[in-house]
Amino acid sequence: MRNSDSVVEALLEAIPQLRSQLFFKTSLTALSHAMEDQVLAGIEKPLVIASFQQERFYRQEASRYQRIADISDQVYVLSAAGTSFELGSEAYETIAFDEADALTQEWHLVVIGTQYSACLICRERDAAPIVSVLPIPGAPALDQTRRFEGVWTQDQRVCHQAANLLLARIAAYRPTLAPKIKATKQRYQLLSAVSDAAQIGGGADPFTLRLVTYLQAGQYKLLKAYKAIAVKEQRERLVNAITAAIRRSLDPEELFQITVDQLGPALQVDRCIIYRCPTQRAEVTLRHEHRQPDTRSLVDVGWPIADNPLLEQIRQEHEAIVIVDTQAPPRPLQTALDALNYLVAEWHMRSWALVPLVYQQRLLGMIELHHCQDLPHNWTEEDFALVEAVATQLSVAIIQADAYAHLQELNQQLEALERTRSNLIAITGHELRTPLSTIQVCLESLATEPDMPDQLRQTMLTTALDDAERMRKLVQDFLTLSRLESGRIEWTFEALMVAECFDLALSSVQARKSDRSPCCPIEVQLPPALPMVRADGEWVVEVIVKLLDNACKFTEPSGVITISAHAAGEDMIQITIADTGRGIEPYRLEAVFDRFYQEEGALRRTTGGTGLGLAMCRQIIEGLGGRIWATSEGKDQGSQFHFTLPIAEGRATLHIRQETEELPDADTLSELERRNPYILE
Ligand code: ADP
Repeated sequence: MRNSDSVVEALLEAIPQLRSQLFFKTSLTALSHAMEDQVLAGIEKPLVIASFQQERFYRQEASRYQRIADISDQVYVLSAAGTSFELGSEAYETIAFDEADALTQEWHLVVIGTQYSACLICRERDAAPIVSVLPIPGAPALDQTRRFEGVWTQDQRVCHQAANLLLARIAAYRPTLAPKIKATKQRYQLLSAVSDAAQIGGGADPFTLRLVTYLQAGQYKLLKAYKAIAVKEQRERLVNAITAAIRRSLDPEELFQITVDQLGPALQVDRCIIYRCPTQRAEVTLRHEHRQPDTRSLVDVGWPIADNPLLEQIRQEHEAIVIVDTQAPPRPLQTALDALNYLVAEWHMRSWALVPLVYQQRLLGMIELHHCQDLPHNWTEEDFALVEAVATQLSVAIIQADAYAHLQELNQQLEALERTRSNLIAITGHELRTPLSTIQVCLESLATEPDMPDQLRQTMLTTALDDAERMRKLVQDFLTLSRLESGRIEWTFEALMVAECFDLALSSVQARKSDRSPCCPIEVQLPPALPMVRADGEWVVEVIVKLLDNACKFTEPSGVITISAHAAGEDMIQITIADTGRGIEPYRLEAVFDRFYQEEGALRRTTGGTGLGLAMCRQIIEGLGGRIWATSEGKDQGSQFHFTLPIAEGRATLHIRQETEELPDADTLSELERRNPYILE
């Protein structure tokens, strides 16, 4: 049997003057117990009708009702049918109602005696979440937060009406009780209708009413306290989750994702994004986002951080900015928002909050919250306290992560340094000891053998001097590379003619080539009217010499070396030194620029050298604003070393100057012509 009508509604309908009131669950428990205690006091034998929402609530009170039944033979107890509660007539009448009955949502207690009547007719309101802004997903509603609405009164006529309604329900569920109910009604002279409705509402004495009011007020305060605790707990839980994640990971990317994943649902925002704010960038590509399914994603979108007046303000003040309604922003933010209207419109941001990640006055990043609904969203103070607590944690985490990354980098540098040191020791051991031993043997022989033939003496001296020169060069290369790497070189930039650099380098190479180490022919290819480069001539020549030396070293005398230059784009000149020598395997093309790189290994070299030459070339060319790289088809296919240098401002060439400026005098012209026959056609 099913009865979906609410007793509360039926009572309010029967007596429209009745005002429904809000009760907390604990207030109802107190009132019910007070009414039952009044019966247990045994002053009279009243009619008692109690209706429990569920069997478990009844079970908590069963022993009380047993004692009440000892006092009165007119006790009716209703409850939803459960495992043990069923229709019955023992100490008192039990009426089990259907699961679908509206009574499962209601709480009733009616006591009617001759001296004392009271009734409590209430139904449960939908359980409201404790904290509307920060719901704990899946958390059950606390008992203290359950609320009911209905009537509590000592008005006899209302009590009679309530008793009639409940007795009618009982009769419907237990038709066999009809005669008993009839007798009950007669015995307690239950009024069938309220005659003077205007007088309704009285009944309870003012003291009792006041007590109930205090009870309710106390309950309300308690609820507020619970609410505050719940918010705090929620916040701590979230901050703890993020702190735990921070302890687990030193990867800022992972931290950002964890944070948006936690914060977004907790604040129920349409979109929560986190990003870094590097000063040198105009915009950042967004990677970390939490959003509602119907909100457009910002992932992979370029987000402006330079031309963004809101960010500008945050950079200066380090304070969060909250725009509750982007369509009616606070006056001081109006101009900033006008400039960002295109973002607001495109991404439907009705409410927009920006909370900075700051550490020691440095803006590290930003947490943004977007609400994209038709109506603006009002964030609470608690919401903001939470975001700011998270922002503080995250800022520290970023600093930690950055410090860790920096440490890793330093470690790598230290490892590289350590490798360099060991290499240096190996090279020094080999490179310095070998010539030193030779020099020592030569000098000892010269000292101990005064009768040595002149020719041998001469050979000894030449060998000692050659090896001394090798040692000097090695030490000089070490020192030069160390100066280049530490950035202690001061470049002298000037406009240079490439041809002039070629000439100087070629004469230096030729001068050093002896009969013992002949070099293959070197061809020069220079196009006419090549623009001048802006560089430090001394160092450019040094690079060309080193590249030519290598080309000679690794090319048979029957091969050929070519040195050429051409314009590479608008701003650069590219110079190439190519040979037909032993070539370089493609996978080694980059490695040859490493310090101490030598194909045969430092200690098995046949061609001499220190393995520092190309490392120095790279330092020099990059220091001059260019780039250096190698190409080769592979072993025995020859190699090409290319480097670029910036064209001198104004792209001045002699060719152009001739037309626009005063002509050089005849001596200068012939000197220039001698140096570069291509320039002056
Ligand atoms: P090294 O003093 O040993 O020549 P470099 O730094 O100048 O030191 O060169 C490093 C290594 O690069 C050389 O040992 C050689 O293996 C390779 N290399 C440099 N230039 C050439 C070239 N023109 N042809 C083939 N291999 C080259």
